[in-house]
Amino acid sequence: MAAVAGPDRQEPSLPPVRTDLVELTGYHSAQVEVDVRLNTNESPLPPPAGWLDEFRAGLEAIDFNRYPDRQALALRQDIATSHGVRPEQVFCANGSNEVLQSLMLAYGGPGRTLALFEPTYTMHRQIARTTGTTVAAGRRADDHRLDLDEVRRVLADEQPVLTFLCSPNNPSGRADPLEQMEAVLALARGLLVVDEAYGQFAPSSALELLRGNDAGAERMAVIRTFSKTWSMAGLRLGYLVAAPEVVAACELVALPYHLDAAKQLAGRLALRYVHEMETRVALLKEERGKIAAALAALPVESWPSDANFILFRPLVTPARQVWNDLLDRSVLVRDCSEWPGLTGCLRVTVGLPEENDRFLTALEESLR
Ligand code: PMP
Repeated sequence: MAAVAGPDRQEPSLPPVRTDLVELTGYHSAQVEVDVRLNTNESPLPPPAGWLDEFRAGLEAIDFNRYPDRQALALRQDIATSHGVRPEQVFCANGSNEVLQSLMLAYGGPGRTLALFEPTYTMHRQIARTTGTTVAAGRRADDHRLDLDEVRRVLADEQPVLTFLCSPNNPSGRADPLEQMEAVLALARGLLVVDEAYGQFAPSSALELLRGNDAGAERMAVIRTFSKTWSMAGLRLGYLVAAPEVVAACELVALPYHLDAAKQLAGRLALRYVHEMETRVALLKEERGKIAAALAALPVESWPSDANFILFRPLVTPARQVWNDLLDRSVLVRDCSEWPGLTGCLRVTVGLPEENDRFLTALEESLR
């Protein structure tokens, strides 16, 4: 029977996208073919050969026709053991971005506010928007350190349910000292989330506060990822450590069986290679020092880093031109030059010694 168009009836069409999302462009880093890829802070090395052998063997034993362990208990147990906490304190997801999203789905949403201090990891703001969470953005100081007066102002004015820190802070690189985190925790009324995606490169960790049962420790969540130091960005695994109530809240919004069996296996096996991971971290820290020293001798401003990347600002040549010159030499870095508070800045990931040399040579040529 032919449909009769009544006066109120509209032609069938795709529904419009949620009006609060139309301005979003998504979060993209260029994925182009280059020899030297230093734009997304991954590990420059694949996982250890022994890990790959064990992973292959373990895959043979997976019942692929069955759903995986919904609770990911063995993985959570192993992660908990590695941090000296209980498995009920660990929530895992598909990359730490999904952990961030779970937290915001559980605690954010319409009518609720999240505080952050920019410049910082841009996905914090982006995921807040996609989850309908209001963002109260404070500013870091000009040298990118946390400014406690600004934190006090934002938290008092906005009364956020979630307060986000990123330490070491992406893209500026420095870790926030523990005393500052304790001060923020004392000022925050809701949950303090510390994104430690680069935690292994830093001198201290918010996990110390959480484990120490400091006043307010039950209102902290610390996020980690397997994407960087564990060389597993391609497998997508991240987690948080927090009070069991926070884990239970995240489980409320997680989809059933969201962690596939291969990922659970991969994560458990990775934790057997702590020594290899630490060796890589030591190598990258050494290389970081080398790059920082080289930058200090060039016409660029650069900031100290406790992570596996360095933020710098070319002083004479425009950043976009430097970025293009590097790309012409098959070296890809991150262009942050138009991000708020980072005018003219680029960010380089620390790679293997020969990659870093290629970067430095290309940069010198560009600035010459
Ligand atoms: N947090 C920070 C600070 C990051 O820089 C990144 C990666 N760019 C992530 C979280 C997300 O990492 P993943 O989802 O790969 O765990």
